[in-house]
Amino acid sequence: MSCLSETGPVRLKLAPPGGRSPEFVQVSTAAAISLGALPGRMHRCGTTQCLNLLLTYPEGCRANCSYCGLARHRDDEVGYADRNFIRVDWPTLRLDEVIHRVAAAPGPFERMCISMITHPRAEADTLDILRHWVAASTVPVSILSNPTTMERTDVRALADAGADIFTVALDAATAGLFAEHRGKGRRSPHSWRKYWEVFGHAREIFGPSRIGMHVIVGLGETDHDILQICRDLHEAGGHSHLFCFFPERGSLLAHRSAPPRARWRRLQLARYLLEYAGVPFSAMRFDDAGGLADFGLPASELEPIVASGLPFRTSGCPGAERPDVSACNRPYGDSPPSDIASFPYPPHDDDMALIRSQLA
Ligand code: SF4
Repeated sequence: MSCLSETGPVRLKLAPPGGRSPEFVQVSTAAAISLGALPGRMHRCGTTQCLNLLLTYPEGCRANCSYCGLARHRDDEVGYADRNFIRVDWPTLRLDEVIHRVAAAPGPFERMCISMITHPRAEADTLDILRHWVAASTVPVSILSNPTTMERTDVRALADAGADIFTVALDAATAGLFAEHRGKGRRSPHSWRKYWEVFGHAREIFGPSRIGMHVIVGLGETDHDILQICRDLHEAGGHSHLFCFFPERGSLLAHRSAPPRARWRRLQLARYLLEYAGVPFSAMRFDDAGGLADFGLPASELEPIVASGLPFRTSGCPGAERPDVSACNRPYGDSPPSDIASFPYPPHDDDMALIRSQLA
């Protein structure tokens, strides 16, 4: 089917919720706006550069992570395709129409990401979507994997089919927190060991700079825990993608507070120093409670890095502009626009004044 008219790409139509991948996918609100499938504008941010596609099934994700709007415990409350995820709605589109639309006119998209959920069809359908995409479009593809149901052969198949980057959403920064929020503590199937095992396969198969991991700040860990993971990822040749915890509507942690902005800004800055400014973890200092006490860099060298605004932008898979600016800017995925955690655009002067006051 073609989505081209004589005057250019036609407008995409939203599909009714409740479809099934691979024929249907859900897309983030930002992606739907950027595709022209939804009307609307985003605060100081015209588009997203990453087209996030979420696998969708009427029976939904079979995991029960405490912080997630897609979790299984919501089965009796709301239909799967109507659930919010990282703060926003995810409308449904036909995959073939999305592929034709982007193949004909890539628009702002520098990257596409297939987000897997915990479902017995997830690996096969991800591979199917990837193959169709690669056959039609040159926009590179990231995989946000679900290690629980994956084996080494699945990782290999995705690499062979043309995936560019493989990421793992570890989310919880310690084994104990992982079990509490994603494993036995929530009658959810994930295990810390399996996540690291699949990440290890990806490291060997995809290689340096083509692997990454999501980590959430604010699930009960220390600064030391977060930055230790960032260090380990960096040493493995991977990228750390930090998310600021946000109390997701309908999740089991809907009543928990987001971490203080001062802590979040310090961790954004420290992660950037580790990954892009050559500051070793061993140079950083921590207090007895694991709180970051010293960035390990003189103020005169820290200042231009802060002034660049780069550490405070959304972290994720790299875009076309430069490796330390993510294509996946996820507008307002971890905060409201009124109190931005991860900046989806280069911070303006007023944003920088706020960031500096939060850091101070
Ligand atoms: S596996 Fe992913 S989508 Fe499913 S509940 Fe956990 S965080 Fe949410």
